Amino acid sequence: MSKQVLVTGGTGYIGSHTVVELQAAGFRVVIADNLSNSNIEVLDAIQKISGVRPDFENVDLADKLATDSFFDKYPDIDAIIHFAAFKAVGESVQKPLEYYHNNLNSLLNLLGNMLRYNIRNMVFSSSCTVYGQPDKLPVTEQTPRKPAESPYGNTKAICEDILRDFCHANAGFNCIALRYFNPIGAHPSALIGELPLGVPNNLVPFITQTAAGIRNELSIFGDDYATPDGTAIRDYINVVDLSGAHVVAINRLIQDKQKANYEFFNVGTGTGLSVMQLVKSFIAVTGVQLPYKIAPRRAGDIEKIWADTSFANEELGWKASRATEETLLSAWNWEKSVRGIN
Ligand code: UDP
Repeated sequence: MSKQVLVTGGTGYIGSHTVVELQAAGFRVVIADNLSNSNIEVLDAIQKISGVRPDFENVDLADKLATDSFFDKYPDIDAIIHFAAFKAVGESVQKPLEYYHNNLNSLLNLLGNMLRYNIRNMVFSSSCTVYGQPDKLPVTEQTPRKPAESPYGNTKAICEDILRDFCHANAGFNCIALRYFNPIGAHPSALIGELPLGVPNNLVPFITQTAAGIRNELSIFGDDYATPDGTAIRDYINVVDLSGAHVVAINRLIQDKQKANYEFFNVGTGTGLSVMQLVKSFIAVTGVQLPYKIAPRRAGDIEKIWADTSFANEELGWKASRATEETLLSAWNWEKSVRGIN
């Protein structure tokens, strides 16, 4: 019998792509998601891509009783990938209690059930936000974490600490935190992708919506940073590459290949691109019009960050492989398919 992986937040952006990669690698998948930021139709899309419909349960994982009942129904899970979380930085500043409640309780409820059902493996969605603005670039896993700039960022740091302490106290239980840089793009089938509700916060969905005519103009937040062209620099990673890192991490856990029972890895490309470089690349590769203007810096933004990925490359044997151009084209193809543009 193939191994069963619980993917929380599996109908979301990174979750849905990871479900597809897990299925391709031979895992059975059950998704737990309360659809607070995703659509049930994603299950149809996953089935179209892989030929297999994952099991699905509508569960609020911050609700202990509901979470316990979920595990009672699925007692044979081998590993968990925990994506389900609120993720809007600005909103977290306005609604800190909702963020702490949702993001911390869901992790606690999952860990409690790992003990209850002897589920020994978890991969956790963390973020390069835990590094703040690093003093030295690129960032390695040894780069010190900085105090969080937002409640959202703080939930990622606290969850990492919870995992570390959980693993320390429970020998034989294994966790890997993956610190994502900036995931972008969509599945090459254009059947799944990022679908933000309302006005997008993130750069690439704002670009593709502007290109599709839904937004009038892209604002580039700041052109006076200490970078070659003055715009901020990030490490943009293809979402399918990122999903592949989860499959590798799950195999590492299941095959007991860890060096310590709590590990964390940077998951990026190792290359920094400026906002302006990304915008120009999008225009060049798609040939579409993209009206943009320079706007003031966005509060809370850091100037530049990109990953040193050598630890993930060497230890996990994983490397991002897709070119930015291909990735931007996949984001545009997804936007066109959602909007019915030819
Ligand atoms: N950005 C921008 N205009 C937008 C959205 C984002 O110029 O409409 C910039 C943002 O200031 C940052 C980069 O794009 O420098 C990536 O932002 P995003 O919100 O996608 O990710 P973050 O790195 O902030 O998590």
